[in-house]
Amino acid sequence: MERVAGIKVSGVCKMFSRQTCAILVSLFIAILPAFAQYKIVWGDVHGHTSNSDGKGSLDDYFTHARDVAKLDFVIVTDHDFGNSSPWRMPKEKWMLTQDKADQYTVKGRFVAIAGYEWTSQAKYWSGFTNGPAERLFPGPPKFYNHKNVYFTNRIGYLFSAKDVAYNNPDTLAEVVRKHGGLIQNNHPFALFNEAGDQWEYVPANSSVIVNTEMGLDVSRYEGKTYELNWEKSLREFLNRGGRTGFVSGTDTHEGRPAARTAVLATELTREAIFDALRHRRNYAINHARIGLDFRINGHFMGEEIELAGKPQIMVDVKGTAPIEEIVIIRDGKVLHALRPQKQNVSFAYVDETFAETSYYYVRVIQVDKDEHGNKSHAWSSPIWVKKR
Ligand SMILES: [Zn+2]
Ligand SMILES: [Zn+2]
Repeated sequence: MERVAGIKVSGVCKMFSRQTCAILVSLFIAILPAFAQYKIVWGDVHGHTSNSDGKGSLDDYFTHARDVAKLDFVIVTDHDFGNSSPWRMPKEKWMLTQDKADQYTVKGRFVAIAGYEWTSQAKYWSGFTNGPAERLFPGPPKFYNHKNVYFTNRIGYLFSAKDVAYNNPDTLAEVVRKHGGLIQNNHPFALFNEAGDQWEYVPANSSVIVNTEMGLDVSRYEGKTYELNWEKSLREFLNRGGRTGFVSGTDTHEGRPAARTAVLATELTREAIFDALRHRRNYAINHARIGLDFRINGHFMGEEIELAGKPQIMVDVKGTAPIEEIVIIRDGKVLHALRPQKQNVSFAYVDETFAETSYYYVRVIQVDKDEHGNKSHAWSSPIWVKKR
């Protein structure tokens, strides 16, 4: 009987040389923890109800997520202001949001999370000249865009973009950190020129503003084509040294959340989902539930690592339709591409040209399409590698 890394290998090793066997077993051990440690849970991190400008109640939203979309978890993120006076979401609506999220959460079966959308708009500043300003704050307009904020525990009230104390990403991040919450950047494209300042926060706050919604550069919606440069905008942030993982949400205003974010969690609880999101152990999809495992030297997506040698990249895709393309992107450019035309693909790749520091992520495209004609995609969160 022999032991390699503490595992009994007497049977399997009879078929191979001792050295080959040791390599096989260490490979097996490298792959094993993901399946033992984590499972993929599917959710939606962005959606509205009639508490702001969406349709349907909180009950409709959570019931649809659980029973129709068959999600493992869902976050409800109504805007932090109401459509009528008072401009802030009334406290009782925020309390009800938290009550309902607690009520629908059943450990191991379904997790509901209370959040809100911090809805910054340029018109809040007095210097806004592109239309009527609300003049809440003096000075030239800021284009911070929207951010979703969510918590594991109950908080007394939300921290609104219309409140001078929380009207910029850094002060928002500070208070959310204090309460154990997380923030994500929403729809990071400048369709209405409302996104120019969205990355304006100090790098240290990337530990609270941990993720960003990912989507298609060119997107079809109800017969029209939109050039959003969505992934491009995210890559530019990463190229400048920015740190963010990738999530996705429907932003449904019709009460129809759907699977858009995959989270690698130890169990189906609110705490485990937050732990994964906090470590960017999550990836974005836009349609089909593509299974994606991406690691470098055994480290998971979302990690920042230091290596003495060359990055050994491992990609494992469990598709739901033939895979048209898998690419490894390094520092904004395609490093390696495959066109497998089959549903399940596993491969290893060593980056021989790695120099000092790089980020990597994986994008998968399937042949199948959503109802608007967009092909199914999956985007892993990046891994950042530094030479030791
Ligand atoms: Zn929004
Ligand atoms: Zn929204």
